[in-house]
Amino acid sequence: MTKEIIHAQKVKAKKNQQSTLSNRTKKLEQLKEWIRTNQKEIDKALYADLHKPAAEVVVVETSFVIMEINLAIKNLKKWTAPQKVKSPFHMLGTQAYIQAEPKGAALIISPWNYPFNLSVAPLVSAIAAGCSVTLKPSEHSPHTSALLRRMVTELFVPEDVAIYEGGISITQELLEQPFDHVFFTGSTQVGKIVMKAASKHLASVTLELGGKSPVIIDQAFDLKDAAKKIALARFINSGQSCIAPDYLFVHESQKEEFIAELNHQVNHMYNSNAKGFAKHKDYGRIINSQHTVRLQSLLDDAKEKGGHVEFGGECSLDNCFMEPTVVSHVSEDMLLMKEEIFGPILPIITYHQLDDVLHLIQLKPKPLAVYLFSTDDNVTELTRKHTSSGALVVNDCAIQFMHNELPFGGIGASGMGRSHGHAGFLGFSNEKSILIQRTGKTLPKLLYPPYGLKTAGI
Ligand code: NAD
Repeated sequence: MTKEIIHAQKVKAKKNQQSTLSNRTKKLEQLKEWIRTNQKEIDKALYADLHKPAAEVVVVETSFVIMEINLAIKNLKKWTAPQKVKSPFHMLGTQAYIQAEPKGAALIISPWNYPFNLSVAPLVSAIAAGCSVTLKPSEHSPHTSALLRRMVTELFVPEDVAIYEGGISITQELLEQPFDHVFFTGSTQVGKIVMKAASKHLASVTLELGGKSPVIIDQAFDLKDAAKKIALARFINSGQSCIAPDYLFVHESQKEEFIAELNHQVNHMYNSNAKGFAKHKDYGRIINSQHTVRLQSLLDDAKEKGGHVEFGGECSLDNCFMEPTVVSHVSEDMLLMKEEIFGPILPIITYHQLDDVLHLIQLKPKPLAVYLFSTDDNVTELTRKHTSSGALVVNDCAIQFMHNELPFGGIGASGMGRSHGHAGFLGFSNEKSILIQRTGKTLPKLLYPPYGLKTAGI
């Protein structure tokens, strides 16, 4: 079954190569209309999977996708137009340009943490580029996955967009098929499996992976401002965001004040009725009990190794719930510092010299983002030069995802390739180089043998 659909998709992909812009635009318009009409259903699915509040669904799931659709529709003509290239002196008289063409049949594998956004945003880029698509949503967010199936079957024929639900075995079966491009969002560990499978067919890959994004607070920075932004970025979606600040550096002299401010902000956001985080409608849940157990064991390990829980720490396996939690007295041998946390725990490390912080970050695998809170341009420049990451964000956290004209992605362990906007479109496109020579004209005669006579006089 998979084989037949993929074959049909590859055949259709060849036709799509000639697909008109109005064809692609029509598909994108229909997708936008479907999202608008089904917003309530999307809200319900995300609440069932992750306890996501409806307001948050609009901001982080559907609005972003609609923004992507609007940007693609507005720019499709420009993105698909031939881009003229200047000819160097020795090639004067030739014409050169770059023409984006669809890569062909694409596979999109998505995770469960922003299951609508991270499935549909790459789908938008693929449709804009003219690819046919097979979508494989995560088995851990079944309500959203079922809704995506309805969306795909209502809007598209399987040769254009097909969807496969299910677990690892389905993904493995799909990865055996000869796709032209694989767009994967998920863990670094599975990213390696995907890249290995893609190499069998020499399919290109976009890997949007995880990692540990550090946050640094420079000494002179306003702690209230930093705490407010960090509280949201770390604890939204119960900490299950790839770009969440994973661990934090604060100056030794400001540790107490910062933790108090962070505690205040967290309570203001997620315990405003003072009934506890578990009863607050805006605080999310861990995706399943297996991940809740994993988080509890990270915390237990930290406590055993001398970590101090500054606030939070309550966990309920039955309800897949964990309080916003901050741990201090953190050491490098703790699992909290070795694994991506991907939950509502924030380890806090103190420093004396900023240089030491930058050095420590440099020693670790390259993260998706480095977050810096500083008003000093020299510190920003120093951080830019001495760290490498998918993004550097100054004076905020995680907002880079919402800027869809800024390419989004990682480097090394945090991924490769870029998504969003034009970069997303290019990920699903082959930028074909086209060179046209004039009839009867050649490159300099020196290039044509016999060489001996011509070079003898040099
Ligand atoms: P995951 O890697 O476990 O799963 C992602 C997808 O891969 C799922 O569809 C799953 O079915 C499939 N899969 C899992 N194991 C597989 C295997 N052995 N062989 C083939 N396919 C397999 O990731 P997840 O738990 O769904 O999501 C969390 C991870 O995703 C975190 O590491 C997070 O940082 C990362 N993430 C990255 C981004 C980004 O944009 N960079 C965004 C969101 C999440």
